[in-house]
Amino acid sequence: ATHLVWFRSDLRVSDNLALAAACRDPGAKVIVLFIATPEQWRQHDMSPRQAEFLWQHLRLLQTSLAERGIALFIKQVADFTASIEYLKGFCASQNVDALFYNYQYEINERERDAAVEKILGRDVICQGFDDSVLLPPGSVTTGNHEMYKVFTPFSKAFIKRLQEGLPECVSAPHSRGEPLVIKEPAPFDYPGEKVDTALFPVGERAAIAKLREFCLRPAVDYAEQRDFPAIEGTSRLSPYLALGVISPRQCLHRLLKEHPQAIEGGEGATWLNELIWREFYRHLLVAWPKLCRFRPFIPWTDKVRWHQDKERLEAWQKGKTGFPIVDAAMRQLNATGWMHNRLRMVVASFLVKDLLIDWRAGERYFMSQLIDGDLAANNGGWQWAASTGTDAAPYFRIFNPTTQGERFDAEGAFIRHWLPELKAVPGKYIHSPWIWADKQQQTLDYPRPIVDHKQARIATLAAYEAARKPE
Ligand code: FAD
Repeated sequence: ATHLVWFRSDLRVSDNLALAAACRDPGAKVIVLFIATPEQWRQHDMSPRQAEFLWQHLRLLQTSLAERGIALFIKQVADFTASIEYLKGFCASQNVDALFYNYQYEINERERDAAVEKILGRDVICQGFDDSVLLPPGSVTTGNHEMYKVFTPFSKAFIKRLQEGLPECVSAPHSRGEPLVIKEPAPFDYPGEKVDTALFPVGERAAIAKLREFCLRPAVDYAEQRDFPAIEGTSRLSPYLALGVISPRQCLHRLLKEHPQAIEGGEGATWLNELIWREFYRHLLVAWPKLCRFRPFIPWTDKVRWHQDKERLEAWQKGKTGFPIVDAAMRQLNATGWMHNRLRMVVASFLVKDLLIDWRAGERYFMSQLIDGDLAANNGGWQWAASTGTDAAPYFRIFNPTTQGERFDAEGAFIRHWLPELKAVPGKYIHSPWIWADKQQQTLDYPRPIVDHKQARIATLAAYEAARKPE
């Protein structure tokens, strides 16, 4: 029998449920396929950095599979529609008996998979796996068998399920024959942008090493440091989780090995909680597919009259708003493709609630830059910040960007790193450099604040309240 594993966002050999299942029969011939879809990626705003990171991983994956005698075929077509046709032809030409793949939960991906199963009909047995989550979407529900709309009860139910039994990791496949000779795959027909490999070393091994190193740190460090962007207090594993270079099961088991109390709410529970946020947003996508279609979770928020202000949107994108913490964060994003979680909340809140710009513009811009771009987490984060989502910040909760800077980057170390033009500004004024500059009668090579926070706050409250009024 010939087993085909179709790789998508699960670029690893260890703990890959589809790959392991395909290899279970020692007599089967196993082949692996990856189909690049640049036109689809463009439509989904995939960032050039993530595309580059993906390609680098695919190369390593090809080598690592070849060492095990498994061939990875890489094909490029335009989009998902074309990939369906290609897959059909590929299965026929390779005499594939069974297709194995790991589910993706976004709507276009799910529609594509349904079409594939339909087109392959009875000729090929298809098997999908819930590989990118700890627990399958739809399996953690309220007493009424509905998906939770609030995180805390979801998380409680989730942990209870984990306490009853942990999802196990599966091993990497054994060698299935002589090592294969491979040739370097052609680059994708998609813009690429250099990845800083000091920040994000490429490969499954590097990701596992990062995970181990992170879990060896005292768990209290994460709990205490994770909100301070000048400290490397978080794992920075998101780019690997987004492409499936590591699995959430590997994260969970490694965490529990070092901090077994995490599952009882003890040390390590804070990080476990973040992994559960990741699950929450994935489960939500499946329960409410409209979230993949640019729709807010709370319908009335669609009536907010957003400002169409290209200039201000650009100032935000470029990190030139005159609010140092916002600008430093945006420069970090533009330069590295990654942004600290606290700052994602701050800049998202700023765009929506200080500039009153539609959260979807921010969501798209993030996708186009992030190396860890992930629809569920990104949409979840934006809808949280914009108060349009499930369990979101209430609309009247508006971050003050200056106080956020003072609280989470008190000395301005993060700001100075990303905004060298503020190097000379003393600590006391780093969050409002113009007050200092005016006193000194100096000009700075840095913009004045593009909005007055107090006034912006009043205008935003009014805009949300107008939208909320029944007609
Ligand atoms: P850690 O703190 O070490 O957390 C471990 C892992 O848990 C992360 O790698 C991530 O997979 C998951 N996680 C942590 N926090 C969250 C969260 N709030 N929601 C969902 N998963 C979480 N995360 C993405 O992976 N991709 C995105 O596109 C993305 N966009 C975001 C947009 C906004 C506006 C906001 C507020 C958050 C967004 N996040 C996104 C969530 C979070 O900011 C990142 O996952 C986190 O900063 C990644 O850094 P880390 O790996 O060091 O996280």
